[in-house]
Amino acid sequence: MRAVGTERGPRPPGRLAPFGTTIFAEMSALALATGSVNLGQGFPEDPGPSLLRAAAIAAIEEGDNQYAPGIGVPSLLEAVARHQRLEYCLDYDPSTEILVTTGATEAVASAVLGLCEPGDEVVMLEPSYDSYAAVVAMAGARRVPVPLGYDGTRWVLPPGALDEAVTERTRLVLLNSPHNPTGKVLDATELGEVADVCRRHDLIAVTDEVYEHLVFDGRRHVPLATLEGMRERTVVISSAGKSFSVTGWKVGWACAPAPLLAEVRAAKQFLTYVSPAPLQRAVAVGLDRTHELVGPLVAELEANRDLLAKGLAETGLAVRGAEATYFLTVDLSAVTDEDGASFCRALPERCGVVAVPCSVFYGDPEAGRSLVRFAFCKRRASIEEAVERLGRLVR
Ligand SMILES: *Cc1c(COP(=O)(O)O)cnc(C)c1O
Repeated sequence: MRAVGTERGPRPPGRLAPFGTTIFAEMSALALATGSVNLGQGFPEDPGPSLLRAAAIAAIEEGDNQYAPGIGVPSLLEAVARHQRLEYCLDYDPSTEILVTTGATEAVASAVLGLCEPGDEVVMLEPSYDSYAAVVAMAGARRVPVPLGYDGTRWVLPPGALDEAVTERTRLVLLNSPHNPTGKVLDATELGEVADVCRRHDLIAVTDEVYEHLVFDGRRHVPLATLEGMRERTVVISSAGKSFSVTGWKVGWACAPAPLLAEVRAAKQFLTYVSPAPLQRAVAVGLDRTHELVGPLVAELEANRDLLAKGLAETGLAVRGAEATYFLTVDLSAVTDEDGASFCRALPERCGVVAVPCSVFYGDPEAGRSLVRFAFCKRRASIEEAVERLGRLVR
């Protein structure tokens, strides 16, 4: 007999239940509702470079409004190839080794879905960007975290930790540098160790490099793929969102040797099929003028970081400075037992500022309980206002 009209309907299996609503949506809603300065979600407030906006409008007006080719619009594939060659001396063939995706998020998802089998293990730094754990679960794979440490002055990858995390089930290392949420850039020794582990265990590396250009204090981003023996085993991922302050565009790309890229492409094909044609054309225009566009942005971000770090330090909070990205972190344990989640829920009421608890970036929320992330990719006036308001914490 068939059950009809059950009150509850079919019960979902709940595989993705732990990944319910992201904290960013909750905190952004709280910011709006309380009139707080939103240093939670990492998106810039300015409208984005006029060069890119004009190029997108022109592409739409010219009628570039139908499905783009599966691997991407030729002008963008060629611009990515030029960018990788000029920036890093990495050569990729735009017809077989580059894939345009719907943001870096889809590139990471396609890489994990395309390159992992159920039961495989994916090693990643922890804390880690929130989509990683979800997509590893979607692939039926297992996430193996390697906790970053803090040595009193900077975030560090503890020597030997990555090697210890590798088992015979490990398929890939999912690496994010420059790193969200810590603002860390892996140094030469750390990168060397990652490369060594990948080579010794014959692993695939998937590198999320969306902050490749947003590095501070004269540092330079070094892609893992440039290290010896790494190009052939690495899927390099980046996107336009962070470099060009257009996080809503969701245009990303993956570069890898043809056999690896084919698997990534197979997955992408059945996620979004293709990515928006006019925005791809506009990003191609931006990529060829990367330095002109990111130079002023990096200077602004550095100044914002310094102002926010100083303001936070003056309230007595222990700031862990950022070497790159949109973010810095604060360790509450130096001043209070309060955990990051309750600190962040109370912060709008206490002083009209929104931040996010780092526990959302950990598999075991207890591990990151005392850490809070602040975004400084906002207008100067917003950072100044936030610093002024944060002052109320001590007044
Ligand atoms: C913002 C961000 C992304 C998302 O990039 P999109 O191009 O918007 O999909 C991916 N990885 C990290 C580490 C990020 O901070």
